[in-house]
Amino acid sequence: MYDHNNIFARILRDEIPAKKVMETDYTLAFHDAFPKASVHILVIPKKPYVTFHDFVSTAEAEEILDFYKTTDVIVRSNDLHNAGYKLQINTGEGGGQEVPHFHLHIMGA
Ligand code: AMP
Repeated sequence: MYDHNNIFARILRDEIPAKKVMETDYTLAFHDAFPKASVHILVIPKKPYVTFHDFVSTAEAEEILDFYKTTDVIVRSNDLHNAGYKLQINTGEGGGQEVPHFHLHIMGA
């Protein structure tokens, strides 16, 4: 069950501020408010999915492609591809997911 009051849902509705990096019809990216790396950007789909499985099993192919293409554009525009970077998806309580709206962390040193 999706919680429409989770913090990323509220960012998507512009109810709370975020430092936005990039936005498409399907995807929003913004800086993590508590960065764990010198570049730490979160990429989220605009539609309400809780987990990785929800996203890949129910989103349209166009949305999924847009999500990963957007991630790649951000990696390259922040020049992370030469030095290297991490992409991280935490899933569920055991996976350390704190915010119940599917998201991907881009982290570069
Ligand atoms: P996760 O543990 O994978 O659910 O990651 C959630 C991330 O959201 C953490 O890295 C938090 O630092 C980040 N976060 C929490 N609140 C906000 C916020 N208001 N704006 C941006 N990032 C946030």
